[in-house]
Amino acid sequence: EPSDRSEEQVSGAKVIAQALKTQGVEYMFGVVGIPVIEIAVAAQELGIRYIGMRNEQAACYAASAIGYLTGRPGVCLVVSGPGLIHALGGMANANMNCWPLLVIGGSSERNQETMGAFQEFPQAVRSNIYGRPGACYVDIPADFVNLLVNVNSIKYTECCMSPPVSMAETPAVSMAASVIRNAKQPLLIIGKGAAYAHAEENIRKLVEQCKLPFLPTPMGKGVVPDNHPNCVGAARSRALQFADVIVLFGARLNWILHFGLPPRYRPDVKFIQVDICAEELGNNVRPAVTLLGDINAVTKQELASTKSLPMNYYTVFYHVQEQLPRDCFIVSEGANTMDIGRTVLQNYLPRHRLDAGTFGTMGIGLGFAIAAAILAKDRSPGQRVICVEGDSAFGFSGMEVETICRYNLPIIILVVNNNGIYQGFDKDSWKEMLKSQDATIASPPVCLLPNSHYEQVITAFGGKGYFVQTPEELQESLRQTLADTTKPSLINIMIEPQATRKAQDFHWLTRSNM
Ligand code: ADP
Ligand code: MG
Repeated sequence: EPSDRSEEQVSGAKVIAQALKTQGVEYMFGVVGIPVIEIAVAAQELGIRYIGMRNEQAACYAASAIGYLTGRPGVCLVVSGPGLIHALGGMANANMNCWPLLVIGGSSERNQETMGAFQEFPQAVRSNIYGRPGACYVDIPADFVNLLVNVNSIKYTECCMSPPVSMAETPAVSMAASVIRNAKQPLLIIGKGAAYAHAEENIRKLVEQCKLPFLPTPMGKGVVPDNHPNCVGAARSRALQFADVIVLFGARLNWILHFGLPPRYRPDVKFIQVDICAEELGNNVRPAVTLLGDINAVTKQELASTKSLPMNYYTVFYHVQEQLPRDCFIVSEGANTMDIGRTVLQNYLPRHRLDAGTFGTMGIGLGFAIAAAILAKDRSPGQRVICVEGDSAFGFSGMEVETICRYNLPIIILVVNNNGIYQGFDKDSWKEMLKSQDATIASPPVCLLPNSHYEQVITAFGGKGYFVQTPEELQESLRQTLADTTKPSLINIMIEPQATRKAQDFHWLTRSNM
């Protein structure tokens, strides 16, 4: 033992092992031989687990699986020549899988190079795990392994940082959110990139918040559990074939996904591609939206973005249904409001639903509601009347709100407001139109004045009015109106002006003019 540390000598093998340790390497697989045995021994001495395998290819597979599972590269240690050639299969597989892998090979003795080569480790680890993960090879000249160097002459570069997290650009995020929101048959495909990105928690939230069906690829399985009600794995072919919008979370449109092409997919399917690798975007298909960034970060962005989007019919009725008393009267009129509402809002008693009826009449709602409320008052006090109106439908008899207030009937009027008949303009599009032309010339016949405050019709007569734009506001206002049995109220619910019903198989039946 030299007493003066400055004279302490250390072998190249130990330097290599220490450099790996410093880079956070915990596992090494390989098949040893000259000149790499000493590296394996040195690694073991430093607490890196060395697992000796029988063929470099299997060692490489093992090391790359460590990379996928931990996010830091596993090392594969091989000898020169045939060892390295055997490792090529594993390196190619890791590269194709986008999994980090660090292969260290011993080669023949160096001629004129310098010791600088050890500095390649931090670089190798970085290129392994930054951007799209993949395989990396560091070649160690044989004479490095047993070369003795002065301890003080070595400086290990610190462990390379975890990859920086990149996010997608904001306009693309909002565009994706609106494409998803307007999809009739959306599908989320969860690939192994999502697994690698540890995006499970946020993807599950997105699946549940947007009620998205999802399909895992083989190694995307388990990111959201297979037994989740939204998993459509059992109907894979159908799901792919009928989706009109497909969000790809870390899955490539290669043979596993039938290249994203018909007849396995609709010719007009819109792909939203999320990937960390720019070169991957637009492979095989022309995506409707591309989101370049880390899947977990992008999912968080999408979560925030879809939350701030206006509600659609399904969101509204879902929250209404949750709070409706089982014995309430449901009165309804409107086009989409009545049609979609009928499918979501449940009736449990006979003669408790009144709507546009045989004649498809608009304007019946408030009269029907008043009748039901008077009967309830006389015969079963406390029984509620919910009047679900489209904004256009409400216009036909809106002044009956005065009647309701005059007799103090605790009717709850919900105006599902999309700024129009069937569909309307949002406020900005309306303003944009007015810039160039007068409304009497340019307004589409289906448009009504955007963001009309119909709730003020009831406050004018002393009832309670609510203007709601988010699910939370809707839930809270419903809670309040249902709790107050003494007063009429009107909740004006703003929804996406372009929201429509889901696609139906029988198109000839959906062109109804109600
Ligand atoms: P699968 O076989 O499950 O369909 P693929 O290997 O085809 O998955 O696709 C995985 C994709 O995930 C690759 O294109 C890769 O670039 C991408 N990827 C890997 N890690 C991330 C990450 N953190 N964020 C975004 N994309 C990632
Ligand atoms: Mg794939």
